[in-house]
Amino acid sequence: MKTHELFIDGAYAPAASGKTFAKISPVDGRQISVVHEALAEDVDRAVRAARAALEGPWGRMPLRQRTNLLLDLARAIERRAPEFVEAEIQDTGHTRHFSETIEIPRGAANFEIFANLLKNLGGEFFSMDTPDGKGAVNMELHRPKGVIAVISPWNAPFLLMTWKVGPALACGNAVIVKPSEESPATAALLGEVMNEVGIPKGVYNVIHGFGPGSAGELLTQHPGVDGITFTGETRTGEAIMKQAAVGLRDVSFELGGKNPGLIFADCDMDKAIEVTMRSAFANCGQVCLGTERLYVERPIFAEFVARLKAGAEALKPGGPDDPGTTLGPLISAEHRRKVLSYYDKARELGAQVVTGGGVPHFGDSRDQGFFIQPTIWTGLEEDSAVIREEIFGPCCHIRPFDTEEEAIRLANDTRYGLAATVLTENLSRAHRVGRRLEAGLIWVNSWFLRDLRTSFGGSKSSGIGREGGAHSLEFYTERSNLCVKL
Ligand code: NAD
Repeated sequence: MKTHELFIDGAYAPAASGKTFAKISPVDGRQISVVHEALAEDVDRAVRAARAALEGPWGRMPLRQRTNLLLDLARAIERRAPEFVEAEIQDTGHTRHFSETIEIPRGAANFEIFANLLKNLGGEFFSMDTPDGKGAVNMELHRPKGVIAVISPWNAPFLLMTWKVGPALACGNAVIVKPSEESPATAALLGEVMNEVGIPKGVYNVIHGFGPGSAGELLTQHPGVDGITFTGETRTGEAIMKQAAVGLRDVSFELGGKNPGLIFADCDMDKAIEVTMRSAFANCGQVCLGTERLYVERPIFAEFVARLKAGAEALKPGGPDDPGTTLGPLISAEHRRKVLSYYDKARELGAQVVTGGGVPHFGDSRDQGFFIQPTIWTGLEEDSAVIREEIFGPCCHIRPFDTEEEAIRLANDTRYGLAATVLTENLSRAHRVGRRLEAGLIWVNSWFLRDLRTSFGGSKSSGIGREGGAHSLEFYTERSNLCVKL
């Protein structure tokens, strides 16, 4: 069985706390690793190591050398991709295909894109007149923010963690990563690769543990942390914001969603089904950008529901090692209990269960795992908890609509504002509707497609700030204006 120690100051070491916890496989419920839990003393050591790195060779390293190291890191991740894939799928039960084609390659790309961005970055420059006629020049400078706490979730662990570590390091910061307690392995493995390519010690630190009363809370409360970047649930974001208030530390938040999909009668039906099969069921519905609320124009409602039902019933649940698997498990017993509580609630509220609603039975070790049936409902009221709250499982509710205006109103009637999809072949409608949707990411006739240079993030309760391309500089650097009188 694997043991994940902490990675601090360039070396793996047991937690000073002496505490460990078990990581359970979502595929068959077996314990797969022992994880060291960081408490106050460990968190403090990590913060001191990160601070020392900023004051040492990392802080003094020329931009070109720093960004070249990150490009080396991207290549090393690609070389060691099979190890990262194995670590990720063991922790999460994700399909091998998802890890091999999306999660791990995106992890490498997250270092490459930000290294290249920083290499080629220009800056603002203003020449100004002064009363003495000699003038002055203003230069906008970007300095690293300092020690960044990276708190990441379990649903795409390596992809989401490197999405923060990539820009943080490219901008010259040092990081302390607190991966989810459910997915410690890839963050731990990355420490080895950091050492292999020669990233100075203390630049990348990993502490394991839980949120409240454990590594997460202790890290975000630590006065030596200059900024906190967090991806996870909205209510955790609220807790972290309180923790960050002491010392007025800056936060960047990517939070939950309850994303709508609008399917108009003028869509290409094959495309609409293909897009919705992914947006509702990919990664067993554990994607923040997934669509749990679907609104379908009445003339195509019945056909759409029937075809999505057929698609959901054709999904093959199973473990990552079965090449036929198209639907992995949920991450944990606790998360499955939460998703099943919504399945029960939907039934109690009188939903029509189009398909699913329970747990599959295999007759083998997978019955000890955390599999769940993909589920489709119709007939619920818009104010029910099933429609208002993020479930984060392979499920969606479908409701018919009659007018474009009604569809927009229904889509925007939520506290969240992360993502939305629009399916239509009418270009004017795509623009008209897209402009009025209150979401940070709006897709027309696609989902999950992204140029990493664009901004990423949510409005309303779905986040604070944007990451991606040059937008990441807003959080990972401090600006100074240098005004030189001539
Ligand atoms: P979570 O909020 O339960 O946990 C996320 C991380 O925060 C974990 O590392 C956890 O240990 C830590 N944490 C929990 N309480 C804490 C506290 N008080 N102080 C400090 N750290 C604390 O989220 P999760 O269940 O791991 O992930 C699923 C959630 O993440 C969903 O809501 C999903 O929508 C969201 N998510 C959002 C995005 C996005 O980009 N907007 C992307 C992926 C996931």
